[in-house]
Amino acid sequence: MSALTLVSTGMRPFQPLNTLGRSCSRMDYWRHSQRTIVQYLSPSRVESTSSSAATKSWLFKILIPCRTSRMRWSSIVRTNGLPPDSLTLIGICGCRLLTTKRIGPSLNTALVTAEDVYAGQLAGCLQALHSGTTAVVDHFHCANSVEHIEKAIEATAESGLRCMLCISRQSLPSSFEPFAFGNDAQVSKMQLDIIQSLAQEDQGRLTPDGRVTLGLAYDVQGYDPQEDQRILTLVRDLNVKPITLHYVGGPHGRAFSKKIRLWAEAGLLKEDVIFSHANDLLHEGCDPGEWDLLKASGASTASTPEDELGMGHGSPVAYEAVRRGVKVGLGIDCASIVSTEMFPAMRVALQCERGRLHKVRADDGKGVKYNSLSAASAFRLATLGGAETAHVETQIGSIEVGKLADIVLYNADSVNLSNCSNCSDPFRGIVLHATAEDVQWVFVNGEIVKRDGKLLRKEWSGVAENLKTRAAVIKEKVANFDLEQRYASIDKQFGLALEV
Ligand SMILES: [Zn+2]
Repeated sequence: MSALTLVSTGMRPFQPLNTLGRSCSRMDYWRHSQRTIVQYLSPSRVESTSSSAATKSWLFKILIPCRTSRMRWSSIVRTNGLPPDSLTLIGICGCRLLTTKRIGPSLNTALVTAEDVYAGQLAGCLQALHSGTTAVVDHFHCANSVEHIEKAIEATAESGLRCMLCISRQSLPSSFEPFAFGNDAQVSKMQLDIIQSLAQEDQGRLTPDGRVTLGLAYDVQGYDPQEDQRILTLVRDLNVKPITLHYVGGPHGRAFSKKIRLWAEAGLLKEDVIFSHANDLLHEGCDPGEWDLLKASGASTASTPEDELGMGHGSPVAYEAVRRGVKVGLGIDCASIVSTEMFPAMRVALQCERGRLHKVRADDGKGVKYNSLSAASAFRLATLGGAETAHVETQIGSIEVGKLADIVLYNADSVNLSNCSNCSDPFRGIVLHATAEDVQWVFVNGEIVKRDGKLLRKEWSGVAENLKTRAAVIKEKVANFDLEQRYASIDKQFGLALEV
């Protein structure tokens, strides 16, 4: 690729992880906002930066979002209103278990086919790029056959997204009434065999340029320390990372609780582990010692505020994790029920925490004159915070010489951002006002994947058409199932006392 000059606001360096609020003040960023030219000379890395006069028109340039997101594939069940957005975690589980379960012995009878996974995964990855997310950790748990896994890899590679694709070792139900996982040994073997062979093929690189790499998503039923030991030892020997797993807690997530302590005591808690959500750490009756275990091990959390609040997980932990010195990044979770953009995630995380702090003051009979948390703090959670969560902050997460060339350019003259272009705090514009519409150019690994607002690798109309056609078929199949009966089974299994 020929040399290319990008104009940036030169916002390096970012604040340290535990520096939030007033220390990320306007004046700090004003000082850093002298325009800089980033000369992009190599196919994949930022090779030099130099201060210089800048051209006009781009203002908010530097964002390398790395989100600890999941479930790109579930875009397939987003279309045609499936599932409805009123579902909480249990409803989603009902839908999802339904989509992942094999209905009959043949793969052709599975509700979501490998081709459906391809359509959903491709759309989900493109939606991420469209909104300026260049890198994700993807918890892929529709791994119910080798073909499903292969199609997920194919779609991710074709999209151009940087992705740590965590293939699941996940229990899939063999029956709903009674609720059972009778085929777990067979499912486990299938999933581990392919993870093993992918890891050995090219040291976990799923694309030749290393843009897509292999991780593990680990969600098994119950707790079997010996089995956990066996699986984690196997993948760690193969250098498969990161390892993501659900840790929710509360009424809706009891089944996934307390693995931080359990794994720490079993010697399994290491820095390659990312706990999704981790809301249990804020629940009444939580084990506060788990915060210390996370910090000491270097394991991290992925906070997905928008979907956690809607799904009944509990309050988002993002800012508490920062205060506790635990690595945390922002994420999306189910692309089927929340926005695929990081902007709502940043806004919800920020305003939720501001609201919590206001309540603390109000309970004390006091008001608040200035918010102590800046928009920049949420921006950091969505970029460098995500990179630190996946332990790739030396490669991505900010613009620095030697880092990979994942760069997003915003249009400062857009409808949403033009009022912010002379603002001393560009983060305010991005966090509080931006949408995917304002993301003008996106580079991943030095390749332009979105130019002048248009995705380059795929024609979106074709992707959308495929998505709609496939989702319609799934909807037809779902009509044959009694979802209420499935919720009742899950309710019975976990003793949740569900209310309508
Ligand atoms: Zn989740």
